[in-house]
Amino acid sequence: MNPRLAVYETATLPLSYPGFVCILPNCYNKFMVKSIFVSPTKLTGIEDSGANHLIIVDIGLNEKIWGRFKKLKMDLSISVNAFGPDGCPANPEAKQKLFNKIQKALEFKPKEIWIDHFRFDGHWEAIKRDKIPEIHLDCRWCQGKNRAAVLENTAREIMSLVAGRCLTGYFAVPFKSEDLPELNAILGQKHDLIGKIFDLSSPMLYHQMINKPPIYVSDYVEWLANRTQKPVLPIVQIKSMPDDLEDTITEKEVTTVFKEAIKKPSLGVSFFYWTHALEKNKTGIIKKLFTSVH
Ligand SMILES: [Zn+2]
Repeated sequence: MNPRLAVYETATLPLSYPGFVCILPNCYNKFMVKSIFVSPTKLTGIEDSGANHLIIVDIGLNEKIWGRFKKLKMDLSISVNAFGPDGCPANPEAKQKLFNKIQKALEFKPKEIWIDHFRFDGHWEAIKRDKIPEIHLDCRWCQGKNRAAVLENTAREIMSLVAGRCLTGYFAVPFKSEDLPELNAILGQKHDLIGKIFDLSSPMLYHQMINKPPIYVSDYVEWLANRTQKPVLPIVQIKSMPDDLEDTITEKEVTTVFKEAIKKPSLGVSFFYWTHALEKNKTGIIKKLFTSVH
């Protein structure tokens, strides 16, 4: 058995799906993952959210706050930011910064560590006619390098660093490589490669933001699970993004997306994020959906 998964229980159950067989850690077999992405400082009402899993941003996280999270009796994971607009993934200094954040997150003994922005920069959320704006141009670190190979190596280094102390996932840019060649060549996020190295993935299926219908959510989870052969936990939006847009996502739409998101082979669903739910008075919608399923 994969030692990384042995941190939980030894029994595993194959998750079967036409053309897809995946060994799930046992901890995921009993219940659907009902997850919320949270900031450690905006937690009003989280205890009544119906969630059984939280993904907590590492910024501002400390022992005291972690202690409060532990009292919630939910599965706790930590999200760390990898590479931003000024951090080329091929720059050893940027990489070391990420490794330091992972080391720090490991001290809290989370169930999972989630790597955010694990890609060369590019504003994929603002995709227009299949073109990604603000892409990272060749710099002194990445010039002449295969970007997907750079991230593949870093993913392996991260797995060695974590060394089975928790599971490691990454947030996936929610496009298919056949639809968007830039995904591999420019962002370097080749799901076939890195998705097989990490333990699990969370595609950022902010459907409205990328102009896709709700059905794209389940379609994409199936595509990604087939590519990675690993568990997939989709993350979906609760309000219109970016922030300057008027919120046009209704309860009916959130419900439709939720139902698409939890279809097999999905592990469950994660909402992005609690701060948005508080801001738009939508925490009740999340609670209603989470308590409607087991
Ligand atoms: Zn570069």
